[in-house]
Amino acid sequence: MNEKEKTTQLKPLSYCDLGVGYKCNYKCLMCKLWQNSPLCADNVLSIEQWKNVLTQIVDLPKKDGCMINFAGSGEALLRGGIFELIKHGREMGLKIHVITNGFAVNKDVALKMDQSGLESLSFSLDSLNSQTHDYLRGAPGAKDRVLKAIELIALHSPNTKMGINTVISGVNIKEVMELTKWVEDHDKLAYINFQAITQPFSFTDSSKEDWFEDEKNKFLWPEDKKAVNQTIDELIELKQKHNKIADSAEQLNIFREYFLNPLLFIKNGRCNLGKGDILIIDPAGHVSMCSIVGIIDNVKNAKPIRDIMMSPGAQEHKEKINECRLNCHLVVSCYYHEESS
Ligand code: SF4
Ligand code: SF4
Repeated sequence: MNEKEKTTQLKPLSYCDLGVGYKCNYKCLMCKLWQNSPLCADNVLSIEQWKNVLTQIVDLPKKDGCMINFAGSGEALLRGGIFELIKHGREMGLKIHVITNGFAVNKDVALKMDQSGLESLSFSLDSLNSQTHDYLRGAPGAKDRVLKAIELIALHSPNTKMGINTVISGVNIKEVMELTKWVEDHDKLAYINFQAITQPFSFTDSSKEDWFEDEKNKFLWPEDKKAVNQTIDELIELKQKHNKIADSAEQLNIFREYFLNPLLFIKNGRCNLGKGDILIIDPAGHVSMCSIVGIIDNVKNAKPIRDIMMSPGAQEHKEKINECRLNCHLVVSCYYHEESS
């Protein structure tokens, strides 16, 4: 290790996203990964390689509550060997969370989930209205699958905490309150967490600040300002009475600001992924803090993750993130903070 590497501090991780596979059986309208994923399906890490990744993550400093998220580039539960991997991580004391569309959950899967010790799981669910959710997810029966999966997991994997992830868009905004109240009343669901619709994820499209004005994307944007204000007001009011809305009132107001004034909002925002406390590894083993900015290295190159995160390459990557003014909409839902100067 050279002098520059030695002086680089390794920050405790607050977030870790492992994309265990590209495969996905849904065709979500807010995600283009399913369109491009066959391009890169060949070179995914094996389960043994992922186990090695988890073993290395055990030794990295982590903030309290840092979850290892199996999410990212595809549907995690379609990845063969996923429960073997979760078990490996759990046995080493890692907190593991899976984000799923719910399709693959049956009794057998729920039992394997229980045996693996999976700590928590969230379902993507955008509406209780089947037409809306199934349309947004490009999969007939998708909503019913989520509801069935919740029942099966509650029965066969009772220690797995469950929640809902909802993307607020122009298509479902008027149905968000019904869904939230349903979660509030559901004794098996611990939380609901929101994201604002952003430019559909893609391996190939570059970030575009006015993506929501494109003919092909327009329908996803909540044009109805009254509906935006009413929904955000009601969510904040409900949050004061109950405890299942995971987003802070501040975050909900950020969504409002973004929906009402997207271009202005993004111009005033800045991304904080460059703090160095994020680890993202894609199915092919590329390590980054933001893959749009670039790749630091690949775990297949046999360099320990600790060294990759402390390398001059990681330092350059952080600097690029700090300088990034791509006006990327990812900052809205996860990593937004006010410009300090
Ligand atoms: S959002 Fe998830 S479930 Fe939907 S197509 Fe993309 S990877 Fe698949
Ligand atoms: S704003 Fe942040 S998330 Fe978006 S491309 Fe730049 S560094 Fe990545």
